[in-house]
Amino acid sequence: MSHEVLQDYDIAELKTMLADMDEPSYRAVQIFSKLAAGVGVSDMTDLPKTLRSKLIERFVTEPVRIDDCLESKDGSKKFLFALHDGNIVEGVFMPHNYGNTACLSTQVGCRMGCAFCASGIDGKIRDLTAGEILAEAVQAAVYTGKRLDNVVLMGSGEPLDNYDNTAKFIRLINSREGVGLGQRNISLSTCGLCDGIYRLADDGFTVTLSVSLHATTDENRRKIMPVANKYSIADIVRAAKYYFEKTGRRIIYEYALIKDNMSYFDVKRLAEITSGYSSHVNLIMLNKVREKDVTGCTAAEAERFRDRIEKAGVSVTVRRSMGADIEGACGQLRRRRLYND
Ligand code: SAH
Repeated sequence: MSHEVLQDYDIAELKTMLADMDEPSYRAVQIFSKLAAGVGVSDMTDLPKTLRSKLIERFVTEPVRIDDCLESKDGSKKFLFALHDGNIVEGVFMPHNYGNTACLSTQVGCRMGCAFCASGIDGKIRDLTAGEILAEAVQAAVYTGKRLDNVVLMGSGEPLDNYDNTAKFIRLINSREGVGLGQRNISLSTCGLCDGIYRLADDGFTVTLSVSLHATTDENRRKIMPVANKYSIADIVRAAKYYFEKTGRRIIYEYALIKDNMSYFDVKRLAEITSGYSSHVNLIMLNKVREKDVTGCTAAEAERFRDRIEKAGVSVTVRRSMGADIEGACGQLRRRRLYND
């Protein structure tokens, strides 16, 4: 059996594929729209039975299945998505007052190796395809029965280390015949792969760019993020400014609060890093990962740090944490499932 995923096809590609099968091209939009609405191929009753059978025979038509879902008291839901090859990734659904947000994974595991993150503990297993990432979103919407208003690529994986599939995913979910999610409602979070940031801007994407900064000097950043050996903070700022200039989109810096990155000097340097272009700092309370030895701070300390940064003239918020009672933290649920503990 082929392992080609039907959801990887855009409308033009579906048309070519259908032509090869001597099927009319108008079926392409029908198939694309139904897949985006989470309808299984066998339930696409507007297609002839023979075509349905051919598609099921030739493709993986249900690439992502919800294997488990933990529901939090705050309304957020954490999913274990089972992929068709037996791998597992995580996703989260979060109802906010400004709309429903799904947090999706772009890779099984991750090779970036950040000191505080559970996703990278076993390295990268494989990239997700565009259709698999899309199927995570679709399954989350089907399961909850809710419309998705925002998507954040903040699950496991580094989206810019899987550039082509991530870029195609954005085009697919953006497509009016499908989910139709605007690029302004999509956030891509990167540990700072600058080449990918330039590429995104040059390819005409306008998604919200979030950069995981987590330190204000290269020396401190190298201690917790191996990627800092490749790109300096100055490189990141240059790339971020380029992205801002090309897209007009405000750059979001994510800053996980770690005991050692909350000094007076960090406040000053954060102000320098973020000045001269439209930017915002999102402070993140560290989620404790059992296997990792990194210390976070209390909510009161986070608020004090936020106040000091704001006084230094920086637009800043503390990210509201959801799902604390359901292992909201990155990558941990999957590890429990895999290692059965
Ligand atoms: N690879 C991308 C996106 C995935 S993680 C990136 O690095 O941005 C999304 C965010 O969660 C990143 O800012 C990441 O640094 C942060 N994160 C990872 N582990 C965390 C933890 N244990 N506690 C809090 N934030 C964490």
